[in-house]
Parts: sequence; structure tokens; C-alpha cells
Amino acid sequence: MSRLVMKFGGTSVANLDRIRNVARHVKREVDAGHDVAVVVSAMAGKTNELVAWCRDASSMHDAREYDAVVASGEQITSGLLAIALQALGIQARSWQGWQIPIRTSDAHASARILEIDGSELISRFTERKEVAVIAGFQGISPQTGRITTLGRGGSDTSAVAIAAAIRADRCDIYTDVDGVYTTDPRVVPKARRLDRIAFEDMLELASQGAKVLQVRSVELGMTQNMPIFVRSSFDAPEDIDPHGTPPGTLICGEEDIMESHVVTGIAFSKDEAQISVRQIEDKPGVAASIFVPLADANINVDMIVQNVSEDGKTTDLTFTVPASDHARARETITRAKDMIGYARLDSATDVAKISVIGSGMRSHAGVAAQAFKALSDKGINIRAITTSEIKFSLLIDTAYTELAVRTLHTLYGLDQT
Ligand code: ADP
Ligand code: ASP
Ligand code: MG
Repeated sequence: MSRLVMKFGGTSVANLDRIRNVARHVKREVDAGHDVAVVVSAMAGKTNELVAWCRDASSMHDAREYDAVVASGEQITSGLLAIALQALGIQARSWQGWQIPIRTSDAHASARILEIDGSELISRFTERKEVAVIAGFQGISPQTGRITTLGRGGSDTSAVAIAAAIRADRCDIYTDVDGVYTTDPRVVPKARRLDRIAFEDMLELASQGAKVLQVRSVELGMTQNMPIFVRSSFDAPEDIDPHGTPPGTLICGEEDIMESHVVTGIAFSKDEAQISVRQIEDKPGVAASIFVPLADANINVDMIVQNVSEDGKTTDLTFTVPASDHARARETITRAKDMIGYARLDSATDVAKISVIGSGMRSHAGVAAQAFKALSDKGINIRAITTSEIKFSLLIDTAYTELAVRTLHTLYGLDQT
């Protein structure tokens, strides 16, 4: 017997039929004798609708009220799943974040989990064999005493945090794909499912745009040493062999990975904007005069490229920010124009970032060079490059995203055979 967290994402609970299917998956584990805590997302599309309502109500809405609105999607699915489980004769109770409680920071709309008291859930497992159905994505801030949400995709993080709090043996993430692939299988049909992936590689894939898991859930899995298993909710529960290993991907420590490849996977993100500050005076302190105001405005800067000036007098500085911060970043730089001293400000939102990830890159040289050649052979221009120990990222025109990802996927031998 073991203790499990089962998390179901939006498409897995999109309607009552799917919720009943989820209930049968849960029953399968309960019948096998396991203690089960379930974490659910809102029905597919619901959170987007709620976010849009807040925006339509006022573009300058209060983040505390945004949280009050968007957390409601998960409240509905947790209640419905508890009802569906009870209908199958299973003891089940729904829990909102504040009831457990899941204590978070007060950063409304992007709160961090600080502490979860798992004692009540554990005692209900032992005393009544009761399944806990927990609303993902939400918690409560002790400072404000109000509901908080954990940022988009946050139910993954709720699930891993609860798994740690109840000392679960594993956290199963059920979604609409049957595992983590070498790249998004919806974009590259030749993408290959990985049997295992190290936390570090998964962390990079997720932070560079593979939305299959929220970044913070992987971070938590790594620090809490909680194995995460990504699998499909669309398999019929009756077809699953309770003693076999279902298709899926285990995210685990590097020491548990048998085979190693130089490149593990490719992620991409179209939510980028490029900003170029032209003809800045080339003197000490200019970078600070640009990036300090951006940091003060809470704008995350990602790739940075500074040209070496030809005449020793002026230079160009290019960087990327999230597309949603594009207008604010432009305003911030324009406001600081006198302090920075530049001639022109250019920007583009039709850019995409392609990231090639693999912890094997630590011990292999020339991995990025191969990519530059392969992309130039396809006529794809690279606007900016950044590298780190286990990844490199390239900024290109959005129109070439799919072509670039497919080209690199083949180049690094990731295609399914
Ligand atoms: P859920 O609603 O279950 O949380 P998400 O839509 O958040 O599901 O995440 C699953 C989606 O992530 C998949 O449908 C897939 O398109 C996308 N995805 C992106 N990159 C990958 C990858 N490398 N492996 C698997 N899925 C990926
Ligand atoms: N429902 C939330 C969202 O769409 C949380 C989640 O699905 O993980 O972002
Ligand atoms: Mg998700």
C-alpha cells in the first residue's frame, strides 16, 4: 500500500463525463488499497474565461479580487468530483485551499506556497479511508487573510506541494498527453516520449516554455525529492493493469536516469518581445541605467546582447522581455531616455525563443554550433543567442518557429524512429 497524489488538469475534467472517468481512475487506486489525495484544475477554458471577465470589468483590477474570481473554477471541479466519487460508493470530501490550509505568500495572482498542514488529511486516510479532493491553484495568505492563486498552471504546484505535505510516495500528474516528450507533440508529430527525465532538465524545459508542468512544481519536486509521474487521463481506467507500469514519464533525480543523451528536449515560447536600444553612449553604467528601471518595474529581462561598438562611442543593446510586458518595458525605457542617452528604440513582438536543453551539454562542446549551421541552411536568421551550462536559446522570427523546432529535433537525433 502506498500514498498517492493524483492531479487532473483542465481537459481531464472538462465535462461531467470526464469527471466520472476521473472518479473511476481514483476508484482504481483506492481499490488497490492506496491512500489517495486528488488535486483538480478548473474545467478546460474556465480559468481563461474568468481571467477575461476580470480584464473586461476593469483593466486595472485589484489582484485580491482577481484571485477571488479565478479561484472559483477549481472550487466547482473539486465539489463535482467528490460527488462523482460518492456516487461510486467512495468516501470523499472536497477541500478548498483555505480549509486545509495551504498557506501562501501574499503575492496575489502569483503566490508561492509557504506551508501546508497535511495532518487532517492524513488522519482522515487512517480513520475513515476518505479520499481528499483538493482544489488546485489556490491557497490563503495569512497576511491578507484572503484567497490567493499560484499563477497559471499552478495546480501542478499544488499537487507536488500536497504530496510533500502528506509524505506521499509519488505524485501522478494526469493530463491530455501520455508523458513528457522531447518537444511539444502537438507541434512535432515525431516527438518521442521520454521514459524518464531528470528534474534539472525538466526544470529547463518547463521554464523555457513546455507548459506540461508549471516550473515551480518541478522545483518543488526537486527540493522535496518527490518523484513526479506524468501520464494520460484518457486511458480507460478498466484497461490499466494494477501491477504493470503504465505509459508515462517519471521525473526523478539524475542518479536514477540510466541512459544519457546530449540533448534531452527542445522547448519554445512565442510569448517574447525583443527590444533594441540603439546608439547608446558606450560608457560604464549604461547597462544599469536601462536594467535598473526595468527591474524596479518588475519586468523580467531574459536574453541580453550588447554589440561591441565600432567607433568606441556608441553601441546597441538588445534584450527580450515577456510579450505581456512589452508596452510597459517601452514606456519605462522611454521615461529613462535622458538618463540612458540613446538615439532610437526599436522593438518587435513577432519573435520566438527556441531552447535546446540537455544536462549532457556540460561535457560536450560544439552542440550549439551545429544548430547555427542547420538553421542557416534553412534560411532562418538568429536575432539573439544565450547559453548556459545545460541549455542554449535562440531568438528567431515567430513565423519560423515550427520549422526551427523540427529541424533541431531531427538534428539532435530526437525523432521517433
Ligand atoms: P493540463 O490541463 O492537464 O494541466 P496543460 O495543457 O497545462 O495540461 O499541459 C499539457 C500540454 O503541454 C500538452 O497538451 C502539450 O501540448 C503541452 N506540451 C508542451 N511541451 C510538451 C512536452 N515536451 N511534452 C508533453 N507535452 C508538452
Ligand atoms: N486552472 C488554472 C489555470 O488554468 C490552474 C491549472 O490549470 O493548473 O491556469
Ligand atoms: Mg497545466
